[in-house]
Amino acid sequence: MTKKLSIKKLQPMSKSRSIATRAFAAQSATSPLAPYQFERRAPRADDVVIEISHCGICHSDIHTVRSEWGPATFPCVPGHEIVGKVIAVGKKVKRFKVGDLAGVGCFVDSCGKCVSCKNNEEQFCSVHTAFTYNGTELDGKTPTQGGYASHIVVRDKYTLKIKKGLPLERVAPLLCAGITTYSPLKRYKVKKGTKVGVVGLGGLGHMAVKIAKAMGGEVTVFSTSPGKEQDARKLGAKNFVITSDASNFAPMAGKLDLIIDTVAADHDFTPYLGTLKIGGTHVLVGAAPEPNKFGAMGVIFGRKAIAGSLIGGIKETQEMLDFCAAKKVFADIELIEAKDINAAYERTIKGQVKYRFVIDATTF
Ligand code: NAP
Ligand code: ZN
Ligand code: ZN
Repeated sequence: MTKKLSIKKLQPMSKSRSIATRAFAAQSATSPLAPYQFERRAPRADDVVIEISHCGICHSDIHTVRSEWGPATFPCVPGHEIVGKVIAVGKKVKRFKVGDLAGVGCFVDSCGKCVSCKNNEEQFCSVHTAFTYNGTELDGKTPTQGGYASHIVVRDKYTLKIKKGLPLERVAPLLCAGITTYSPLKRYKVKKGTKVGVVGLGGLGHMAVKIAKAMGGEVTVFSTSPGKEQDARKLGAKNFVITSDASNFAPMAGKLDLIIDTVAADHDFTPYLGTLKIGGTHVLVGAAPEPNKFGAMGVIFGRKAIAGSLIGGIKETQEMLDFCAAKKVFADIELIEAKDINAAYERTIKGQVKYRFVIDATTF
């Protein structure tokens, strides 16, 4: 690792002042991320100010800043796997006090009144989910900026509680990779003996293996990378299938109750559908920019389902954090400095991360 970037001193913080924030941002879909400074809003009565300690790198950050899912808004500070310390709270905040640990996931606000919000599924708010970056605040115009930054200001209701004494750098990825895999594993009632397939052993995939195993599931990993077999088994997988050879799927035919598919690129679902039991479900969490294809016969025979899942609401995210703390389930990570973000992106795209890059936020 080379020497630390030179960092300008922050202005002293006052409740009535905006928060000077150091960050890394992309200025266009083709430019590398580079140092960037901006002001977070002055904390409101219901805001929590967090000094970020760590932020994970999710493949969604890469899809977004490269405008793979549609044009992004620039400058764009990505990052939605955020942990840190509360350094100020607004006067109406009851749930947090200065010195508490806090987390922020994929969204920072929502209407709070619609059916989805009332059902604790703010990610599906029918009015406006304010995503953590590349979105807007509820005013519909102020851009949101994410966690590749020194600080973030978030409404207390959308801030998660993190227990003290946990390895924070390994907790950060739970805020997206953890909840995105926990939510469908729970919804499809994984319990002792449930046969779960996990497609793609990256950030989401390795969390899916750990969480499914912690719920009692028996896990099969499907991977394009033969070199990940030993890791998959250490993470808790019973079976490992190398997907480049179609004949490797044969022993798994009709065996699985549920598949969590985390692949970030287009791929054919057909061989995976063949591994499901009758009535089994193939849940897509990986969000390939290209439309996916599958043959109807793959779901007709065996009354199978292809489903999707999007992160999780605040209540479920807190439940997942508490579950992972109790079971000691944390991400396997490589800790990097901010200056190494672009290199980390390249390795993530090549499937070479073990198994989540996490940025040390003191290096912004
Ligand atoms: P990641 O760390 O890059 O992992 C993806 C894994 O998929 C790779 O490690 C690789 O595993 C496999 N893979 C990649 N390209 C492949 C290809 N062309 N064919 C087959 N397998 C391939 O990414 P991530 O952060 O886990 O995110 C995965 C996807 O989930 C992304 O599309 C991301 O945007 C999406 N996502 C969705 C949600 C949601 O709420 N639904 C939330 C977060 C992220 P192997 O080496 O084992 O093959
Ligand atoms: Zn994510
Ligand atoms: Zn709503």
